[in-house]
Amino acid sequence: MEDSVRDTVILGTGCAGLTAAIYAARANLKPLVVEGHEPGGQLSLTTLVENFPGFPDGIQGPELIQNMRQQAERFGAEVVPGHLANADLTRRPFTLDFGGGKTERTRTLIIASGASARWLGLPNEQALIGRGVSSCATCDGFFFKGQPIAVIGGGDSAMEEALFLTRFASKVTVIHRRDHFRASKIMLERARTHEKIEFLTDTVVEDVLDTAKKEVTALKLRNLKTGKIWDFPTSAMFLGIGHEPNAKMFTGQLDMDQDGYLKTHHFVMTNVPGVFACGDVQDRRYRQAITAAGSGCAAAMEAEKFLEEHGR
Ligand code: NAP
Repeated sequence: MEDSVRDTVILGTGCAGLTAAIYAARANLKPLVVEGHEPGGQLSLTTLVENFPGFPDGIQGPELIQNMRQQAERFGAEVVPGHLANADLTRRPFTLDFGGGKTERTRTLIIASGASARWLGLPNEQALIGRGVSSCATCDGFFFKGQPIAVIGGGDSAMEEALFLTRFASKVTVIHRRDHFRASKIMLERARTHEKIEFLTDTVVEDVLDTAKKEVTALKLRNLKTGKIWDFPTSAMFLGIGHEPNAKMFTGQLDMDQDGYLKTHHFVMTNVPGVFACGDVQDRRYRQAITAAGSGCAAAMEAEKFLEEHGR
């Protein structure tokens, strides 16, 4: 990374960041796109994407994101690995500190750093992602038609996932570590009264099986009250234990809600002029590839407009 002032730096190479990169590059802003710990974002963790318009037969998530990246690079976007340690957004150009003496100065900043699904940290969990372990019911539920599915969590996300998954599953079992739920009464009630949904409370997942078969066959469960441990047969484990927006590095500089999501007005504007946010780091409601792409497009267009108004 060199020490000249950029027109725009984009943080993140998920759907939002790469769409912003395509638009910014085509506007000749020569964007620097910084790829963090989760290259490609959540799309790279999923398998077949069937709801992204333009692909009647669906497209693999990693392929979709690779296509976007190639498209951005074709127009001159520069993608580099990096992890933002600190940012000074108090004056323009903004200064971004990537650690190890690497800094960038930029006239506009597009934050597309996404939100990371929380995982349980089980021994076999990562190996079975995309093979029955998922954090996205909308993305992967369809693959488990007529099969039993487990959903982990006791909040609104878990209830929403469980209800959504009833469209496909033969049975959905919500597994929650307590017998009290964070979920709103209405969501909990909907789940409780659904004929396909069952609950296992005071129960934690110790591991997910079976890596040898390269698919989920069962969960190893433990009841916290009785101490009983058993294998619970299921074809999939969906996590609904929340997401963490990747915005902690902006604490104190950008407005956030109580859970750390960046607050935006006019779709993508943060409280700091010249700093735009798009995708899951500012969207806790839709969280779809297509909505992330849409907001990435808007962020790049706003950055371009900002540069026109404030000089490049
Ligand atoms: P949440 O409310 O924080 O709930 C997370 C759930 O996961 C909790 O039940 C928690 O258990 C459990 N959990 C967390 N870490 C765990 C672990 N390591 N092992 C086992 N269980 C674990 O998160 P959320 O459901 O994603 O909701 C976040 C916010 O978005 C909430 O304000 C929610 O209302 C909102 N939301 C709204 C809707 C809607 O209205 N349609 C849909 C989704 C989300 P404990 O309870 O024991 O801590």
